[in-house]
Amino acid sequence: MSKILLIGSINMDLVVVATRRAHPGETIFGEQFHIIPGGKGANQAVAAARLGADVHLVGAVGNDQLGKQAFTNLQAEGVNTNHIQVLSDVSTGTAHITVAEGDNTIIVVPAANEKVSPNQVDSVRSLIQDSDIVLLQLEIPIETIEYIVDLCTEFHVPVILNPAPAQKLPLALLEKVTYLTPNEHEVKILFPHETIEQLLKRYPKKLLVTEGVEGVRYDDGENLIHVPAVKVKATDTTGAGDTFNGALAVGLSRGMELKEAICFANLAAGISVTKLGAQGGMPTLEQLHQLQG
Ligand code: ADP
Repeated sequence: MSKILLIGSINMDLVVVATRRAHPGETIFGEQFHIIPGGKGANQAVAAARLGADVHLVGAVGNDQLGKQAFTNLQAEGVNTNHIQVLSDVSTGTAHITVAEGDNTIIVVPAANEKVSPNQVDSVRSLIQDSDIVLLQLEIPIETIEYIVDLCTEFHVPVILNPAPAQKLPLALLEKVTYLTPNEHEVKILFPHETIEQLLKRYPKKLLVTEGVEGVRYDDGENLIHVPAVKVKATDTTGAGDTFNGALAVGLSRGMELKEAICFANLAAGISVTKLGAQGGMPTLEQLHQLQG
């Protein structure tokens, strides 16, 4: 079984569905309320676990009800939670989502996720060393991300950085990671002065740009390659990138060639958008095999 290590965020999403947004100072009635597991670290861990990998998630939650729910969900999905810290002085990370007038507005409170420190990473050094691949996002402190990437370099463990949510990053960090997987928006924030074509040429076999319904683009060292998205009826594209990254880690950790791993991830992500919720549509390996015939 391939071993994947995620060090990242664990949130619970608190979702209100309303006909409109409240104005400042106003109270209105909403129509529905849902509590849904989320956080990019947890989402990508679930995506990889559903595809049959041995997945460890390192992170932090608060000693509260939401933290317990997050734990229960991860365990039910087969994600190893042994290295998730339960902190008593801080709440579990939350995303407060209002769905109204055909759009989402989101306020994220990182809380416990901000406490994932280089110290905690030190306590899982042997886990990093034993992993086939390490998968990271940007919902824990950048200083921690830099620390992990340096350890991965030292241990010769490949590392995928999914630079989401979008933010500027030191070039030195981007240069060190094995794979970088921004979407179109994130790539523009990371590299505002170059075109995607220039960047793909500069980072062959490393920069994989996901382009939603257009699929994925990368450079294989000789040519620019476009992998078209699978044709599906999209219901909810939340979590498409998370599914892509989790599945990419699974493909690469199983020894697939880059192109094969990208196609595998592109298929998994395509299937994920056919169902509601970030984790709701993430396929199992059996579902993928059935579709591939
Ligand atoms: P993010 O969710 O991070 O914004 P994207 O929107 O680029 O990421 O989607 C990631 C991947 O999910 C795409 O590269 C593609 O493989 C798949 N995907 C996204 N939207 C669709 C869609 N409408 N139809 C099929 N596949 C999709």
